[in-house]
Amino acid sequence: MKLAVIGTGYVGLVSGVCFSELGNEVVCVDKIEAKIDMLKQGEVPIYEPGLKQLIERNTEAGRLHFTTNLVAAVQQSDIVILAVGTPSLPNGEANLSYIKQAAQEIALAMNGYKIVVTKSTVPVGTNEKIGSILAEYSIHHFDIASVPEFLREGSAVKDTLNPDRIVIGADSVMAKERLKALHRPLTDKILVTDIRSAEMIKYASNAFLATKISFINEIANICEKVGADVTLVAEGMGYDNRIGPSFLKAGIGYGGSCFPKDTEALIQIAGHVDYEFKLLKSVVDVNRDQRFNVIRKLEATLGELGGRTVAIWGLAFKPETDDVRDAPAFEIIQALLNKGAKIRAYDPVAQDNFRSQLNAPDVNYCSSAEEAASGADALCLLTEWAEFREFPLSRLETLLKRPVLIDGRNQFTEEELADTSFIYYSVGRPNLNKGVKEQSPALLF
Ligand code: NAD
Repeated sequence: MKLAVIGTGYVGLVSGVCFSELGNEVVCVDKIEAKIDMLKQGEVPIYEPGLKQLIERNTEAGRLHFTTNLVAAVQQSDIVILAVGTPSLPNGEANLSYIKQAAQEIALAMNGYKIVVTKSTVPVGTNEKIGSILAEYSIHHFDIASVPEFLREGSAVKDTLNPDRIVIGADSVMAKERLKALHRPLTDKILVTDIRSAEMIKYASNAFLATKISFINEIANICEKVGADVTLVAEGMGYDNRIGPSFLKAGIGYGGSCFPKDTEALIQIAGHVDYEFKLLKSVVDVNRDQRFNVIRKLEATLGELGGRTVAIWGLAFKPETDDVRDAPAFEIIQALLNKGAKIRAYDPVAQDNFRSQLNAPDVNYCSSAEEAASGADALCLLTEWAEFREFPLSRLETLLKRPVLIDGRNQFTEEELADTSFIYYSVGRPNLNKGVKEQSPALLF
């Protein structure tokens, strides 16, 4: 099939490349010339494992092209996939200006029947609006469809080529059949729905996963007070097939380009139909607060943070990505700076993105994990990169001025800590806390 993908960000680029890998003719469009120039030269503007090799292979095979010329791309394609951003507006609603702009550009470019598919995460009813824009600006026949994207950054190629399911929201038989044929090589778990349900499935899925994370973080906070270990609690819960083990890792809360904005957007979507989504509001509140536990634990150990040097390991919102959108590290570092702390930060791939987005020239960005830790009063691990996990603790202990380790991602085990003198705090594992006087857990009966 001939496809045009509008927007070559994390979703559009990975989807376009993977569709070309399946043998389709794909042209990826972006309005940022520098991105397209990089891609034409075989460079990849984002960090995503496995993507570069696929781009090389499919470009060489002549199935994958990059352009800023949306008109030509639309005209040579049967299916046009919208993968532009839908960031948050200040009130939490999804900003649909990129979607509307792209829909208008597609409409004006159309030279015949097209299936216009939305992969961007959009509020219920948006695809109908896209349909209205197409009808207003084009004389040509079209069908619209919602095919929400569920890939995870860091494993986006793998997720796209091995999806848990594909959801196709469409009304027309032609669109349903063509989109089923396009996705069938990936999986036979294809759910065909009406358009509004498909739009809702995406938000409901992200809201549910965010709820799992905030839930286990609250359980972790209670574990710290009652002397239980949240990793064992999560394991015990996860064996239950009704619950499942994923998204039950306690930590500093979720960040990234999807969960924060999609939970806020769903609260707004509900609000617009006079429904207060109380549960999801709490999920968001819990998540906002969870990251500051790092600072509470630092203060419990160091006292006043003014003048202290704090090393930060990890700036990306999760490992294996250079995406820092809504990363907890922003608020944590900003709060530490406000308290007068000095920051030495390091991330293996997200450092440049982070530096360009945090307006804080005083942060000292280091070129290695070792350099960041050297001479610091404490170290906070915020992203679970393998590099940090594998760093020898005996070496770390000698680098730090004081062996204070705040592990925001529960990366280290009791055995690993046993022969060290770390003052160690993790999340929901009070039995592993070392070097600080613990209060006896309050007994309830
Ligand atoms: P992104 O910001 O990385 O990329 C969007 C791209 O679209 C940018 O490169 C931008 O220049 C381009 N663009 C905008 N308007 C354009 C136009 N008119 N013509 C050509 N290009 C245009 O965004 P993303 O992370 O890829 O997310 C895209 C959508 O997918 C969002 O709605 C997001 O919620 C959703 N989504 C993202 C993920 C994820 O992990 N990133 C996962 C699932 C769904």
